[in-house]
Amino acid sequence: MRLVLLGPPGAGKGTQAERLAEDLGVPHISTGDLFRAHVEAGSELGREAQQFMDQGQLVPDRVVNRMVAERLGAQDTAPGFLLDGYPRTLAQGEVLEAELAGRGAPLQAVLRLVVPEEELVRRILARAEQEGRADDTEDVLRKRLAVYHEETEPLEAFYRQRGLLLDVDGIGSVDEITARARERLREVAEA
Ligand code: ADP
Repeated sequence: MRLVLLGPPGAGKGTQAERLAEDLGVPHISTGDLFRAHVEAGSELGREAQQFMDQGQLVPDRVVNRMVAERLGAQDTAPGFLLDGYPRTLAQGEVLEAELAGRGAPLQAVLRLVVPEEELVRRILARAEQEGRADDTEDVLRKRLAVYHEETEPLEAFYRQRGLLLDVDGIGSVDEITARARERLREVAEA
């Protein structure tokens, strides 16, 4: 199964992606996690990405696209993958589409986690207290939400046009949301 998980910061993508990927037996590929690993390792790519991440801005497309294309080339993606945090711009969506078409293995579904904005803010500020992530401050969060509306939301129409977009209500317990997502995926598998 080749999937994308779409949703604003704080929607719970990381948590759900991990569970669903495990269910499906595919790797969970999170660009945020990949960047954070590079930052921690002090790599060149990490240094380049960090300045953008710390300000709530997107890392430039050419950097992200190259990193993802490389990751998708690994052996473990043979049964599929679950992308979390990518694509995040229309340009990235187009690059991904071309990349997968070249492999003869297009996306099968895009799950969108739907959560109202005030709930996103509440969740991220709570996470800031627990985890202390560098980009979880109120200013940076507002910036990330604005960037989501501007850059990432257009992907919803892009995927809706392709008949790939599936909405999942992202309000409720973690288990309830996972159950809803599984149900949507069952519909895809049976279609
Ligand atoms: P969140 O979903 O909470 O915003 P992520 O962990 O997905 O957090 O991403 C953290 C940061 O990493 C983003 O704000 C951005 O700077 C960078 N990033 C992650 N994925 C991408 C991407 N596909 N394109 C550009 N930048 C990205």
